[in-house]
Amino acid sequence: MTTKYLFFTGGVVSSVGKGVTAAAMGLLLKERGFKIAVQKLDPYINVDPGTMSPYQHGEVYVLDDGAETDLDLGHYERFIDNRLSRVSNFTTGQVYAETIANERRGDYLGGTIQVIPHITNEIKRRIRLVEKETGAEIVILEVGGTVGDIESQPFLEALRQMRNEVGRENCLFVHVTWLPTIGATGEIKTKPTQHSVAALRSIGISPNIIIARADQHVDKSLCEKIALFCDVEKDSVIPMTTASVLYEVPLMLEDLGVGELILTKLGLKAKGKPNMQPWRKLVEDVRKPKPTVKVALVGKYVELQDAYMSVREALKHAAIANDVEVEINWVHSVDLEKDKNWDAVKNSDAILVPGGFGSRGIEGKVLAARYARENKIPYLGLCLGMQVMSIDFARGVLNLEDANSSEFDRSTENPIIDLMLDQRSVTDMGGTMRLGLYPCALQKGTKAAAAYGVPRVEERHRHRFEFNNKYRVEFEKHGMAFSGLSPDGNLVEIIEIANHPYMVASQFHPEFLSRPMRPHPLFVGLLKAAKEKAKK
Ligand code: GLN
Repeated sequence: MTTKYLFFTGGVVSSVGKGVTAAAMGLLLKERGFKIAVQKLDPYINVDPGTMSPYQHGEVYVLDDGAETDLDLGHYERFIDNRLSRVSNFTTGQVYAETIANERRGDYLGGTIQVIPHITNEIKRRIRLVEKETGAEIVILEVGGTVGDIESQPFLEALRQMRNEVGRENCLFVHVTWLPTIGATGEIKTKPTQHSVAALRSIGISPNIIIARADQHVDKSLCEKIALFCDVEKDSVIPMTTASVLYEVPLMLEDLGVGELILTKLGLKAKGKPNMQPWRKLVEDVRKPKPTVKVALVGKYVELQDAYMSVREALKHAAIANDVEVEINWVHSVDLEKDKNWDAVKNSDAILVPGGFGSRGIEGKVLAARYARENKIPYLGLCLGMQVMSIDFARGVLNLEDANSSEFDRSTENPIIDLMLDQRSVTDMGGTMRLGLYPCALQKGTKAAAAYGVPRVEERHRHRFEFNNKYRVEFEKHGMAFSGLSPDGNLVEIIEIANHPYMVASQFHPEFLSRPMRPHPLFVGLLKAAKEKAKK
C-alpha cells in the first residue's frame, strides 16, 4: 500500500503532550493491523541532544543502534513497542551538516545553496528514509517546538511540499494545541489556538485534525467553535483533558473514535480489531488503591523531572508488577553533601541513583550508596549509579580512601572507574561514548541472573568510563559479585553485593527497555525488595 503520513505540529506552547498524543495514535493504528513507523524532527542546531544539558532538554533517550535521541522517542517505544533506529530522529544540525558536506564535495557545483530547495530537500530525503528502512504503511511524524518558531519553518515548509509530492489523500496534519483557562472566571480560551492555526495556514498548511489539550473538561460547544474558526470539520476537533494516568491517553483517544477518524480520513480500512483490553487493565491496575513504597531518587537534575523520564516510567511499570504504588522522593545529591534532606532518604524504602555526568554532586551519591550498603536498604544504580556504588565499596570496605573515578579525580591512586584504552584518545564530545545495545552474560546464582531468568541479555549503554578490572579480585574477595559481564568477560556490566537484600547496579541503562506491559527485571527486583522492607 502507499505509505500514509500523519504530521504532528504543536500550537500555543510546548510540553502539552504532543509526543504522547502521537505515540498513542501510533498505538491505535498498530492495533488496527498497520505497520507503523515514527519520526521526530527537532528544530535545534545541535547534531543530537547528546551534548545538551538535561536542564535544557530533559532525558537523552538511547536506541539500540546507539542513537542519542529526544525523549519523545521513549514515549513512542513505550506505547507502540517498536524498536526504533537512528532514522527516527533528526535535527536541523544534521540537515545543515549534511547539506554543507555535500556543498564542499562539489555536489551542487555552481548552485547557490538555499533553504528552499536544498535544506527542504534534505529534510524530505530524511523523512523518506523512514519508509525505506522500515517498510512502514503509516509514518507518524512529529515536528518539535511550536508553530511560529523561526527554527521550525524549514521543517513545516518541507511538509507542505511533501503533501503535494505524496498526494493530499495520503497525509494528514494533526495540530496539538493548548487551551488556557482564565483563573478569575474559570473560562477556557480558544483564541491562542485560533492564532496558532492562522500561523500554520499562513505557511500553507491547514490542519485536518485539532487536538485541543486542556487541564479542564473541554465542552463540545468549544470544539465546535474551534472547528468554525479554524476551518476544520466538526468531528475533527478532539478534546483532550490532561490524563491523570499517562497510559490512559490511548484509551481516551480510542473512546473518542480517533482511530477510526484517522483511517476514514486516510481512506483506509482497519485490518484488524483493536484490542485495548490490556491497556484498560493496566490503567485499572494503576488506579487500584495499593500500599505505597517510597523510592529516594538521588540525582542532580531533580529540579527537572523530565531529565529522568524513562527512570520514572520504569519505576511505574515495576510498581504495577509488584502491586504497589510508587512514590518518588526527589533528592538532590548536592543537598546530601551539605547534610540536608537526609530525611527523604531515610524515610524511603529504596534508593535509586541514576546516570549522570561531571563531578557536581558525586560525593552525595557516594554517600547515598554508603547509606544503602550499611543499612541494607534496597538500592539500584544505573550507570553512574553503578560507578558510585563501586567507589563507596572501595572506600568503605577495601579501605581505599582516595578511590574514585578518573572522571572526577584524574590523579587518584585508585581509579576504580577508569577510561578504557579505546576511549583515551577520544577528544570529541558528541556521539563518542559506548553507545547502544551490548550483550551481557549473567553469572549463575546471582540476584541479577534470578531477576532476568535468562543467561544472556542485551542492554542499552551510554557512558565513557568502565569498572577497572585491576580491582575485580579484591572486590570479589570482599563480597562484591560481578553478576553481569560482557560475553568475553572483559567488561563489567552488573554488580551486586552478595550479603545485602538487594544492592544491584548496572553499567547500562535498563530504564530504556522497560515497557508498561514488560517491566524491567532489575526495577521489578528493586521494588520487590522495597515492598518487603516496607512491610517490616
Ligand atoms: N559519567 C559516567 C560515564 O561517562 C556515567 C554516564 C552515565 O551515567 N550515563 O561513564
